[in-house]
Amino acid sequence: MSRTRISRAFAALAGLVFMAAIAAPARGADPSPDLWERLKAFHGDLCLGSVMGARIGLAAKAALLKAGGEGKLMAAYYDLSCPVDGIQVAVGTTYGGRTLTVEDRDDHRLVLTAEGNGKQVEAKLTKLADDKGAAFRVMKGKSRALPEGSKERQDIEKEMAVIVKWFQTAPDAEVVEVKIVH
Ligand SMILES: [Zn+2]
Repeated sequence: MSRTRISRAFAALAGLVFMAAIAAPARGADPSPDLWERLKAFHGDLCLGSVMGARIGLAAKAALLKAGGEGKLMAAYYDLSCPVDGIQVAVGTTYGGRTLTVEDRDDHRLVLTAEGNGKQVEAKLTKLADDKGAAFRVMKGKSRALPEGSKERQDIEKEMAVIVKWFQTAPDAEVVEVKIVH
C-alpha cells in the first residue's frame, strides 16, 4: 500500500470512529466511568455528596428529556454543598453560566426546567438513598474518632466505600425520585 492509500484508509477509519462517537446512544441516566473521572477532577474528590448530586442531576435530565423538554436547561438547587458540583458536571448547567441557581435552604431538591417549552421536573433522593446517606454520615463520624490506619477504621472505611459505590451504580429508580411538575 502506498503512503497515500494508508493515510486515506486511516482518514476513513478515523471518520468512522468519529461517526460512531456521535452516533452512540445518549447515556442518559446510565452514569459512565468518564463522568466520575470528570467529577473527581472538578470537585477534587468523589465524595458522597458530589456523587449524590450527579445522580440526581442525571435522573432529572433524563426524565425531563423523556417528558419532551426542549431548549436550554435551567437548574435550581436548594442547598449550597457538594451536590451542586455533581449537578454542574452531570447536567452541564453551571453557576457561572447562570443556568444554575443555588439557594441555601437545607433542601436537597433539584428543579430542572427546559426553557424551550417550560417542561419541568423535580428530583430528590429516595427514602432508601436518604437512609444510606444517613448511615454513611454516622460511619464517617465513627471513623474519624478512630486512629488512622487502625483495623477498625479501615473496616468502617470499606463499608463507606461500598455505600459510595452503591450511589454510583444502583439503578436510577432506587436512588432518585423524579416528579414531573408540568
Ligand atoms: Zn464534596
